[in-house]
Amino acid sequence: MYNLVVFGAPGSGKGTQSARLIDEYGLYHISTGELLRDHIARDTQLGRVANEYISKGHLIPDNLMIDILEHTLESNPETAAGVIFDGFPRTIEQAKALKEMLAKRGSKVHAVVGLEVEDEELVERLLKRGLESGRSDDNLETINNRLEVYNKQTAPLREYYQNEGKYHGIKGSGSIDEIFNSIRESLKDTKE
Ligand code: AMP
Repeated sequence: MYNLVVFGAPGSGKGTQSARLIDEYGLYHISTGELLRDHIARDTQLGRVANEYISKGHLIPDNLMIDILEHTLESNPETAAGVIFDGFPRTIEQAKALKEMLAKRGSKVHAVVGLEVEDEELVERLLKRGLESGRSDDNLETINNRLEVYNKQTAPLREYYQNEGKYHGIKGSGSIDEIFNSIRESLKDTKE
C-alpha cells in the first residue's frame, strides 16, 4: 500500500510523470482533471457543471470535488493497493478531506512529489500544449487565471505537506527521464 500525491502548477508535468510512476510502482492513477474532462466529453450533468469552472480556469468547488474523489475511491477496489493522486488535492480543505478518507481506510498519504517549474516556462508549455490538446483551458487568458488560482489556493499545500514531513520538491525542468530519475531517487526511502 503506497499513496502518492503528484503536485504542481498547471503545465508542471504532473500527468507525464504520473504515467511514468504508474509503470514503475503499479499504482492506480486518479487524475481529477482527466476524470472531469471525461465527463465533459460524455456531456454528463457533472461534465456540464465542471466545464463552467474549467473553461474559466477556476477550481471545481471543494465539496463537489471531494464527493467525486470519495466516489472514485469507493467504486474502484484496486485503489486499496495504492493510488497516485494527480491534481488532487488542490486546496487545504481537499488535503484535509483526503487525509480523513485515507484514515477511514487505515491508510495515509505516504509522500508528495512537488514539481517545481518557473512561471514563464509553464506558460510556454501550456500554450504549446493548447495547439494540440484541444483543451478549453489551454489559452492565454485561462492559463493566467489558472496560474493565479494555483498561487493563491494550491501553492499553500506545499507548506502544509512540508509540515507533515512529506513534501519532496523536484526541479521540474529538464528531460522527462532526468525529472523521473530525481523523483525516484527522492522517494527511495518513503515506501513501507
Ligand atoms: P488538470 O488537468 O489537473 O490541470 O485540471 C484541469 C482543471 O480541472 C483545473 O483547472 C480545474 O478547473 C479542474 N480540477 C482538476 N482537479 C481539481 C481539483 N482537485 N479541485 C478543483 N478543481 C479541479
